[in-house]
Amino acid sequence: MENDRIEAYRGSCVCGTGEVTIKFYSHDRARLTKSRGFETSIRCVSCRTEYDIIEQNNKFVFVRKSDVKQKQALWSQYWQRSEDLLKTAGTRKLLSDLETFLDTQSSAAVCHRLLRAYDLVHESYATFRKRWNGGGDWIRSHVHASDLDEVLELLGKKDPKISNQLSEFEALLQQHKAPLPIVGKPLLNTSPYRE
Ligand SMILES: [Zn+2]
Repeated sequence: MENDRIEAYRGSCVCGTGEVTIKFYSHDRARLTKSRGFETSIRCVSCRTEYDIIEQNNKFVFVRKSDVKQKQALWSQYWQRSEDLLKTAGTRKLLSDLETFLDTQSSAAVCHRLLRAYDLVHESYATFRKRWNGGGDWIRSHVHASDLDEVLELLGKKDPKISNQLSEFEALLQQHKAPLPIVGKPLLNTSPYRE
């Protein structure tokens, strides 16, 4: 029964001339919740060109391929702009100020407390201390563009240029995360297949 495939759905494609199936893999036929993944297929050339079947909010649904592409493009834009923001002179100066600020604190424990208070650290002090090797090292491996608002707050600074960019990114990210428009009715509810 290793990696068994079980047909969970069979129905017609969007145009109605072909067939779609959704199968899931399981180690155990008796237990749906042992699902290890799904495999979808659209047996219709024109629907396969125009649509994808994706899992969204615990349901398999038809969406337009063009919408999927757009979603990926929003993510690339978000990523690229975050990278660009990290390279600007304003950000580099801010992070260098953060480095000085951290390196002039009396101990790693104080740094941990401060970073935690501004939501820049989520790990326990024990974990933080093990990896702590100075402000510069920590910034390089932990600070992302999306953290810059918190860094500004921690240092008691304001930088409208950075903050405006951040709200623009946030908008891109929200657009990226928004569910795609569904074509037709949902095909399969996947909740019973998940733990
Ligand atoms: Zn079709």
